[in-house]
Amino acid sequence: MKTIIEPFKIKVVEPIRMTSRAERERIIAEAGYNLFQVSADDVLIDLLTDSGTSAMSAEQWAGIMRGDEAYACSKSFYRFQDAVRGIFGFRHVIPTHQGRAAERILFSVMCKQGDVVPNNTHFDTTRANCEYAGAEAVDLPIAEARQPAALHPFKGNMDTRALAALIDKVGAERIPLCMITVTNNSGGGQPVSLANIREIKAILEPHGIPLYIDACRFAENAWFIKQREEGQAERSIREICREMFAYADGCTMSAKKDALVNIGGFLCTNDDRLAERERDLLILTEGFPTYGGLAGRDLEAIATGLEEVLREDYLQYRIVSTSYLGQAITDAGVPIIQPPGGHAIYIDAAAMLPHIPPLEFPAQALAIELYNEAGIRSVEIGTLMFGRKDPESGEALPGPMELVRLAIPRRVYTQSHLDYVAEAIIEVYQRREAIRGLRLVYEAPFLRHFTARLEPLD
Ligand SMILES: *Cc1c(COP(=O)(O)O)cnc(C)c1O
Repeated sequence: MKTIIEPFKIKVVEPIRMTSRAERERIIAEAGYNLFQVSADDVLIDLLTDSGTSAMSAEQWAGIMRGDEAYACSKSFYRFQDAVRGIFGFRHVIPTHQGRAAERILFSVMCKQGDVVPNNTHFDTTRANCEYAGAEAVDLPIAEARQPAALHPFKGNMDTRALAALIDKVGAERIPLCMITVTNNSGGGQPVSLANIREIKAILEPHGIPLYIDACRFAENAWFIKQREEGQAERSIREICREMFAYADGCTMSAKKDALVNIGGFLCTNDDRLAERERDLLILTEGFPTYGGLAGRDLEAIATGLEEVLREDYLQYRIVSTSYLGQAITDAGVPIIQPPGGHAIYIDAAAMLPHIPPLEFPAQALAIELYNEAGIRSVEIGTLMFGRKDPESGEALPGPMELVRLAIPRRVYTQSHLDYVAEAIIEVYQRREAIRGLRLVYEAPFLRHFTARLEPLD
């Protein structure tokens, strides 16, 4: 088989700047050993997130010029609505400025104090908006999802027995909706099978509990279904998407992921009464129902992006380039969450750096070393992000895992960029015993990872 290539050529370029190791060591020290505090101009390869970092196509930029900026009922809204309906099939399409705005509106309208909302794994903004509406956010991933090295073709699946048990335990009247996140971002970008969605729907239906899909990476999920699920290989991505969403009553979407744009989102539902209340809330904080906090040009770019993301040559390149990076470092012995997910590779820093205890932030130490070595920005998902203080003793407690996430922006980097990243990771891996932990010198009371300051231990 020939090399799978980037299915595009490059019309506009954005220079990136190489720095020296000495410069980077000074920069990271000034940033308090926190990569969120490093200027993007001082980063060579930025793998902090795949959200809002996609490169738009010539057609999307043309759409930006065609955008109709009429306040009400603009032409761009109807193009957007047609594109969303054509893929997802829902009756009501409500634009929002990003995914979390859709979540806030959905949970405000559907949830009240004491409710319970299950999901395979709630993304952090989903959990926060659910809890803000007074509901309890419950994660029900399958057992394999909690073991980084365990192989499973659909490691993002929900544990359907646990879902049935939850309904028995708390009662259907306390569960206003169930969600399923495709792909499961917080669980390593792992896909959910059609069979699992079908089974979830069958469990919910007799109780009258609606199913909503957190659709951020719906096309990547559909690609995995086509590759891995029995009987799906001959179907088009669009057909697979149609079936995925046919089991759902609505969805939330961050267009910053699989709509290939830099800002935007939407909320969909088939429920006329809910849609009315959702639009009322939308007007209060987002805008008129045909723009919802976006410009007409943004709606155009989303409409085009949703069509482009379904192309099989794009999806093949996308998923293969992520696994290419995962395979290159796995072959050298680097422990990662297996198998590689759709949008990111997660290095298991606890397995790679067993000599650094969790309270000395092994994943952060590895992320810092990757920056010092090669100017690569990744993100720690470990004790710095999820560590807690014991409410009684005040003692520091570690996070559940020590991961370094390398998220791949869509259509931004080429194979040689990924070769460079793999080489840098392997070099760091080969001298891993020399890496030392860190200590906190400042932390904010909430979401400390964004602003924390640290220093290296000698
Ligand atoms: C990014 C994301 C969101 C939130 O979307 P924003 O556009 O960042 O507000 C929700 N769910 C998942 C799974 C995501 O990846």
